[in-house]
Amino acid sequence: MKPQLTPELHQRLYESAEKAATAGEPDREALSALRASGLLATAVPRAHGGAGGDAAEINRVTARIAAANPSVAIIAFQHFAVSARIAEWGTEEQKRALLPRLADGSVLAASSWSEDGAGAAKQNLSSTGVRRPDGSWLLSGAKTFTTGAAVADLYLVLVATGAPGSGEQAAYGAAGQTFFLVPADNPGLVADLALDLAGMRGSATGLVTLDECVVADGSRLGPEGRAASIIAGVRESGATLGAVSAGIAEAAFDLALRHTRTRGLLALPTVRHRLVGLATRLETVRAAVERAGARTAPDPGLATLHSKLHATAAAEEICLDVARMLGSAGYRAAGTADRLLADARGVGLMGPTNDLCRELVALSWTA
Ligand SMILES: Cc1cc2nc3c(=O)[nH]c(=O)nc-3n(C[C@H](O)[C@H](O)[C@H](O)COP(=O)(O)OP(=O)(O)OC[C@H]3O[C@@H](n4cnc5c(N)ncnc54)[C@H](O)[C@@H]3O)c2cc1C
Repeated sequence: MKPQLTPELHQRLYESAEKAATAGEPDREALSALRASGLLATAVPRAHGGAGGDAAEINRVTARIAAANPSVAIIAFQHFAVSARIAEWGTEEQKRALLPRLADGSVLAASSWSEDGAGAAKQNLSSTGVRRPDGSWLLSGAKTFTTGAAVADLYLVLVATGAPGSGEQAAYGAAGQTFFLVPADNPGLVADLALDLAGMRGSATGLVTLDECVVADGSRLGPEGRAASIIAGVRESGATLGAVSAGIAEAAFDLALRHTRTRGLLALPTVRHRLVGLATRLETVRAAVERAGARTAPDPGLATLHSKLHATAAAEEICLDVARMLGSAGYRAAGTADRLLADARGVGLMGPTNDLCRELVALSWTA
């Protein structure tokens, strides 16, 4: 059976969104409810205790969570992404040890690729992995913008393990980079929430420091120095952060509909027609995300990039229009409309950033 977001969990996550945005901290009780919900099994294959969801299902679940709580949705999306990468690239031992626990919610996973100065395309990583004589690895460096920092149990960390110039060239990631799966309690890994973001304030997006962090070679995910090819495969999957934007846009539209109904404004044709305009744009966002997830486009990777570009931009515009429609009620400090707008903006800044998505689309014409 497909994991569903129950109305009770929706309400729980919705209430926690306002609380977490005000506090600027993740709501750990809401995250416990997410862990217990079965939703985290979405991207884990059935053979390993999961729900065996494809990209369409990952996008559907992500959008449902985002409609209640965008911050929790990006935590869940990173968990799905790491689960899928392990299913795809993990050794049998990694799959056996991790996938059932990623499915039952006892392990929450995060992605730790970004760092200051590395650039949106992650081509200039300063963090390193050095192989030790006994075959283990010494990881060092400072990662930033890790969603789920300090609440996750497992981090998919990207580090440089070889000379950047060596090997195949990539537009996202670089030759000589390698992924490692590092448990939160591994000595030398320190995660904290020191970032104070404008949006996605409940997403625990923070810092991860690797200091004398030693991991076994069995923690390496995929071939040494070949992380860029794993990264390139991600968008081919059809799972898209555009799904988060679809959920945000839906939440903004619902807010506008509730507001206009409560105030008796639906009697005004101009208000009704503005709402229809919003609903139409919401439909285009859903369609773009569904097309990416269905992988029926001639080039599914391009459809995934376009879906993120369209969904993020349209969701931001919908949120801004809703904030305007709410009039003075939408201008309250810490109001829902402004929170959704700030959250919507954050999705475009997540990897691959929208500028990088544009670059990747353009490169497909010159390749
Ligand atoms: C809410 C949020 C959550 C995030 N979660 C995670 C996470 O879980 N894990 C993680 O690893 N990272 C995460 N990130 C980081 C994100 O993936 C970005 O890669 C990171 O912030 C670096 O982007 P930048 O815009 O600061 O980079 P910069 O390189 O400083 O970019 C500056 C500007 O130039 C553009 N640009 C840079 N390089 C290129 C290029 N090659 N082609 C085209 N345009 C380019 C950028 O898009 C941006 O507009 C998150 C960010 C946000 C905002």
